[in-house]
Amino acid sequence: MQIEIATLFPEMCEAVLSTSIIGRARTKGALTVNCHQIRDYTTDKHNRVDDSPFGGGMGMVMQAQPVYDCWKAVLAQSELPTHTIYLSPKGKTLTQQRVRELAEMPRLFLLCGHYEGIDQRVLDKIVDEEISIGDYVVTGGELPALILTDAVARMCENVLPSPDAYTEESHFSGLLEYPQYTRPEVWEGEAVPPVLLSGHHKNIAAWRAEESQRITAERRPDLWAKWSNK
Ligand code: SAM
Repeated sequence: MQIEIATLFPEMCEAVLSTSIIGRARTKGALTVNCHQIRDYTTDKHNRVDDSPFGGGMGMVMQAQPVYDCWKAVLAQSELPTHTIYLSPKGKTLTQQRVRELAEMPRLFLLCGHYEGIDQRVLDKIVDEEISIGDYVVTGGELPALILTDAVARMCENVLPSPDAYTEESHFSGLLEYPQYTRPEVWEGEAVPPVLLSGHHKNIAAWRAEESQRITAERRPDLWAKWSNK
């Protein structure tokens, strides 16, 4: 899997992507992530990449030219088929199912907007899909792109120790995960559920399945209805 992130703040993305599980996956070659500075592609002599919106209004809009030239240059760097995603509050909300599908793709190009967004004409020309991380607005596409990259990366081979690490988790099967506990056995007078200390694997699995269903039904009736109708 190769992920290209086009942004005005590559250093912000690099800081996160060099850390922890994703950082290690990149170091050992399980995953390639490249961050590209959109400003490097501007033809404006003052290095500008944005301008005020036609029709008036608040803020600035990222111009089409640097975004388009960045996209063309990055796509030309590889023969892998590339799926272009614009991170946008107007996109379809990201789900674990979509993450699984994206993780099967050879190469993703993630476009991060900033300010008021990006000139619609370049979006119409290059974007295959718009993805939102939720029904709220953040200041730029960098955090959404990092969320998408992290979610996709952990489903790629050799990033996590084994597929069990993600198939057992919330949302993979449509349910939320059961509660987790670790040492000590008693903390602040609260004991761990005894079944978890029994060493009886079948009973532990049954307890976890029941808890998973209980929590899903309680907290997410929408997911519960979908899962129980399957
Ligand atoms: N004016 C835009 C609107 O009302 O739809 C919001 C622009 S937002 C301040 C700047 C950038 O942040 C967007 O271009 C997008 O890339 C990113 N962004 C903000 N919220 C997002 C979300 N919920 N999901 C994905 N990207 C988001």
